[in-house]
Amino acid sequence: MPGFELFGEEERKEVQDVLDNGVLMRYGFDPMRNGHHKALELEKDLAKRMETKYAQVVSSGTAALTVALACAEIGAGDEVIMPTFTFVASFEAILSVGAVPVLCDIDDTLTLDPKAVEAAITPKTKAVMPVHMCGSMADLAALKAICDKHQLILLEDACQAIGGTYDGKPLGSYGDLGCFSFDYVKTVTCGEGGGIITNSELFADRAHKYHDHGHDHIGNDRGAETHPFLGYNYRISELNAAVGIAQLRKLDHTLSVQEKNYMIFRNALTEIPEVTFRRVPETGVENYSFLNIFLPNEDIARKAHKALGAHGVDACFYWFDNNWHYYKKWEHLLEQKSLGKLSPEVQSGLQKNNRSFDASDAWMGRTISCLVKLGWSEEETQERAANMVAAIKSVL
Ligand SMILES: *Cc1c(COP(=O)(O)O)cnc(C)c1O
Repeated sequence: MPGFELFGEEERKEVQDVLDNGVLMRYGFDPMRNGHHKALELEKDLAKRMETKYAQVVSSGTAALTVALACAEIGAGDEVIMPTFTFVASFEAILSVGAVPVLCDIDDTLTLDPKAVEAAITPKTKAVMPVHMCGSMADLAALKAICDKHQLILLEDACQAIGGTYDGKPLGSYGDLGCFSFDYVKTVTCGEGGGIITNSELFADRAHKYHDHGHDHIGNDRGAETHPFLGYNYRISELNAAVGIAQLRKLDHTLSVQEKNYMIFRNALTEIPEVTFRRVPETGVENYSFLNIFLPNEDIARKAHKALGAHGVDACFYWFDNNWHYYKKWEHLLEQKSLGKLSPEVQSGLQKNNRSFDASDAWMGRTISCLVKLGWSEEETQERAANMVAAIKSVL
């Protein structure tokens, strides 16, 4: 997955353009720029590649989620439904706008279970946030139908699934808003960065203003701009955006390498009847950044994970025991360890999450995800696949 494996001349040239004129800021300083507007260029390229009308790039994926929530007018006491399996950024973004993250079970797609989502809706629910973990997606048609029925915002966290598609549409473009991360380990990286895509002119306009202190960006006179609403600073720098331009151009190549290596793993594991694969919704295409498998039970999955390491197959994850990605280990969230005081609404809302999520535990207890890298030769990939098979067979 990591796009940094493909850093080369292309990234260097884009960064050099910025260093040559010294303008690291995306706005203003026009006489010094030599025509270089890297953040703006990245936005144009991202909107084009993702087939949306608008794109806004920001300083991180977490910032993208935060800005997207703010654009949808989600604020104090509103509830946002999110999965038990994701990165901590999901609830951080929700909390940062004053809203309540409401955890919800996943199914064999390893993302939100539409039935569990429907059961979690209350009069306070404003948005549903599926997270397309490890390269594949939620059942978006079912989630969209639920959102339409209850007038909720569908916000796709596609931070780990850039380049995948659903119903022929790029992931992130199906919902009202979609978010990407371009942090250092993602498929497209800027070092640090993020993106929001949408077809809504209203949301795009709000994102543009909100991410830069609420400045209206009217005219070219910074300091004279007015503020239609409060904002924040989630701007990306020109240096980071420059790297992103070169990386995004490589996305289709990256996807083809990932698919090739993924298929080598998958074909090898198909010979083990005890191994099954994560369900990809019928009209979905993964971005192939991870191969996600189910073992017959939790005990075997734990042993298989250890055996993979012992067989030299690194970068395989057993998320069930992982502090970053699974709700069981989010003590700071569940015990409300906030530095400052949380609002009474958030404090009481968060209580909802202190319950068991048996369906999530049943799936995640059996799941192992293996990262698909870009730099492996075919020979190396074949060898890893053979080691995977040997490791898993050794514990069955
Ligand atoms: C990486 C990631 C984020 C956050 O992105 P940053 O750029 O690191 O802030 C959010 N959600 C998911 C699913 C991620 O993997």
